[in-house]
Amino acid sequence: MEKKLVVITGASSGFGEALAIEFSKSGYPLLLLARRLDQMQALNLPNTLCKKVDVTDYEGFEKAVHEAEAIYGKADLLINNAGIMLLGDLAVQNPEEWKKMLDVNILGVMNGMQIVMRDMKSRQCGTIINVSSMAGVMPFGNHAAYCASKYGVRGLTQTARMELSPYNVRVIVAEPGAVSTELLGHTTSQTIKDDYHKWKEAVGAVDITAEDVAKTIKFVYELPQSVLIREFVISDTKQDA
Ligand code: NDP
Repeated sequence: MEKKLVVITGASSGFGEALAIEFSKSGYPLLLLARRLDQMQALNLPNTLCKKVDVTDYEGFEKAVHEAEAIYGKADLLINNAGIMLLGDLAVQNPEEWKKMLDVNILGVMNGMQIVMRDMKSRQCGTIINVSSMAGVMPFGNHAAYCASKYGVRGLTQTARMELSPYNVRVIVAEPGAVSTELLGHTTSQTIKDDYHKWKEAVGAVDITAEDVAKTIKFVYELPQSVLIREFVISDTKQDA
């Protein structure tokens, strides 16, 4: 069967890069979005359009989707994966970090959803997968603002699922546990970063990879359109918290 267009945000590293490689291996045409264009182009994947897009820029995001659709046909899957994690102690963290995180992690996801959902509704087909986190299901130390963003993604995904299910459009929320990627790199407190690494070792979140998460997301997508895994938590087996 002909493979339909897959749009992946945050495809320049971590889960997004692994998703791009996994989906490409199976022959899907791709639209890859992130701010670091070189990283995406360096993957050198066939049938792939790479665009420098900040997901908080609605117009830029929409333009890129329309450009890819003109080449490859309508998007059948949007993976809203782009995100940042600025851990901090709520009492002292710079509120600018909260704003930045909520903007990318929540409004960026909402932008993507609205850009593809009208078409998906009218076609009565399509899938949106939003990457939340285990931090969208349970609290973790120094994660208050990040948890707020990821609980938000979970809530909006669950609500959007109710809105889109009658149109045969699947809306799914993925909730990964800790996986080694560049994600922690933007947290500004060195103490929190060091403590996070110690915590990861202590709870056993050490072996699972971005590829494992990407393969699972692909499995969930490739189920028949009539089968919906609404939500899933995926972590290292040894992660005991
Ligand atoms: P990375 O930091 O490796 O990847 C994040 C990606 O998001 C990058 O490609 C980055 O690209 C992109 N991104 C960040 N801000 C923007 C923006 N404003 N516009 C467009 N793209 C942006 O981390 P992960 O792969 O780990 O993270 C992917 C998702 O998974 C995130 O939503 C994260 O919260 C979530 N997650 C990660 C977990 C983990 O332990 N790794 C656990 C649970 C959830 P660029 O900088 O080039 O724009």
